[in-house]
Amino acid sequence: MKPAAFRYHRPPTLDAALALLAEHGDAAKLLAGGQSLVPMMNMRLAQPAELVDLNDLAELARIAQAQDSVEVGALARHRDVAASALLREHCPLLAEAAASIGHDAIRNRGTLGGSLAHADPVAQLPLVAVTLDAQVDIAGSRGRRSLPARELFVSVMTTALEPDEIIVAARFPLRSPGEGQAFRAFERRRGDFAIVSVAVSVTLDGDRVARARLGIGGVGPVPLAFDELARRAQGAVADEAWARALGAGAARAVDPEDDPRIPAEFRRELVETLVARAAVDALRRATEQR
Ligand SMILES: Cc1cc2nc3c(=O)[nH]c(=O)nc-3n(C[C@H](O)[C@H](O)[C@H](O)COP(=O)(O)OP(=O)(O)OC[C@H]3O[C@@H](n4cnc5c(N)ncnc54)[C@H](O)[C@@H]3O)c2cc1C
Repeated sequence: MKPAAFRYHRPPTLDAALALLAEHGDAAKLLAGGQSLVPMMNMRLAQPAELVDLNDLAELARIAQAQDSVEVGALARHRDVAASALLREHCPLLAEAAASIGHDAIRNRGTLGGSLAHADPVAQLPLVAVTLDAQVDIAGSRGRRSLPARELFVSVMTTALEPDEIIVAARFPLRSPGEGQAFRAFERRRGDFAIVSVAVSVTLDGDRVARARLGIGGVGPVPLAFDELARRAQGAVADEAWARALGAGAARAVDPEDDPRIPAEFRRELVETLVARAAVDALRRATEQR
């Protein structure tokens, strides 16, 4: 299949890219890794008249430590996020989740900004951004703004981005001392999109939970953070029974769609198992941190 005809632009600077978006409005689409957009163009689900390729904006591919976060540029490839020593040290959840995306070819080209903008409800990187409450930095022709990831995702493949805006980076909080993080997903075949994916973070104070964070993808139109459930974990003895209870609580808290191919009850069972397993992993890693 071939895409509909389009004009190709390869701006040398962010300002030039923003000017193209301002000029062409809805008719323009940004191209990053092309791993979601190009198949959609080939299937004629997307027919942009103007394609604005971001791949010359090398400054958007940086991964760097900021004051209390790791700043990951929008053009950072999944492969580089997975391999980043900085992220493995300070935000291992993001590196672990990126390593589990699709296949090598997808990870070699796909980018953080593309994944956030595409906003697939089971995609790994949006889930991590929501779970850790990351901030997304956005440039537009009328200036810059920063949005919590939790406000970026509006619905299935729909974000709060304006047509003239570009995601430039996302900032993920640094892991605290004594914090363990873990990602788990269930997919039918290796490399497929997950049916359910979960992210858990646990910070220990002695043998008790000082803080927990829980995010789940695949149970709603956007990845969801379960702050109240995680807050209730505070002060609990951090052991396997706690991890199992968190899984059971999560299964009660979710309200997944009842799809004839994937019944709600199946997703609920996946949530229970995956959350419990991720919580066990996070506990073990938190213990290793001490
Ligand atoms: C076979 C296959 C399997 C896959 N499996 C998975 C998987 O398991 N998990 C997963 O999470 N993903 C998976 N993906 C998707 C992959 O992660 C994509 O790379 C990602 O969704 C989009 O990133 P991209 O850089 O390729 O963006 P593109 O395809 O270039 O763009 C996607 C959308 O984002 C917009 N965009 C891109 N960059 C920006 C920016 N900086 N600011 C604003 N808008 C922007 C584009 O205009 C477009 O609308 C898979 C893809 C394929 C083809």
